[in-house]
Amino acid sequence: MPREVILATGNAGKLREFQGLLAPLGWTLIRQSERGVVPAVEDGLTFVENALAKARAASAQTGLPALADDSGLVVDALDGAPGVHSARYAGAEASDADNIARLLAALADTPEAERRAHFHCVLVYLRHAEDPAPLIGQGRWDGRILEAPRGTAGFGYDPVFWVPERGCSAAELDAMEKNRLSHRAQALNALRSQWTGTDH
Ligand code: IMP
Repeated sequence: MPREVILATGNAGKLREFQGLLAPLGWTLIRQSERGVVPAVEDGLTFVENALAKARAASAQTGLPALADDSGLVVDALDGAPGVHSARYAGAEASDADNIARLLAALADTPEAERRAHFHCVLVYLRHAEDPAPLIGQGRWDGRILEAPRGTAGFGYDPVFWVPERGCSAAELDAMEKNRLSHRAQALNALRSQWTGTDH
């Protein structure tokens, strides 16, 4: 029987990727906007705090199990920025292009060898809003920040994220390939390894 789960995100790029990752498991993902969920305030200092807050808000307001992801780009030369602020790095209404422009400006004087970065993803599954033992999976995808955007696939910082194992930017990978490698795919695998079959 399909498992109905609320996906606590408004991000269309993430929704597409999760549908690709979870459809084979027979999950029916319901977007929180379809159920009028008021999103949680993301004011945590860490990805895990924000992912828990998002999942809890979505589950509390719908009575369904909830899956939430909090993710972002962590750049070594910027002491981990943009980090939990990745979506709003260039301001509250920033577009992906605005965020990329700010990132490239911040790294303008940083040589290639020091442009190490990784995407980080924390995925939280709550059986119900007061679940005391959430399942938590984490993933990390290592690369480096390019000096100019390349490619048009994906979303967010993909055009400036160099994927060493493929020799291209994340925005030059097709969706299936990104779903094999990404921080989100790794976090989902970590979550699935904790699955007992009685978690819904
Ligand atoms: P969140 O909705 O607060 O988790 O925002 C995550 C932000 O991190 C996104 O809006 C993107 O800017 C960035 N991000 C997360 N995952 C990816 C990815 O797979 N590719 C590119 N950017 C990403």
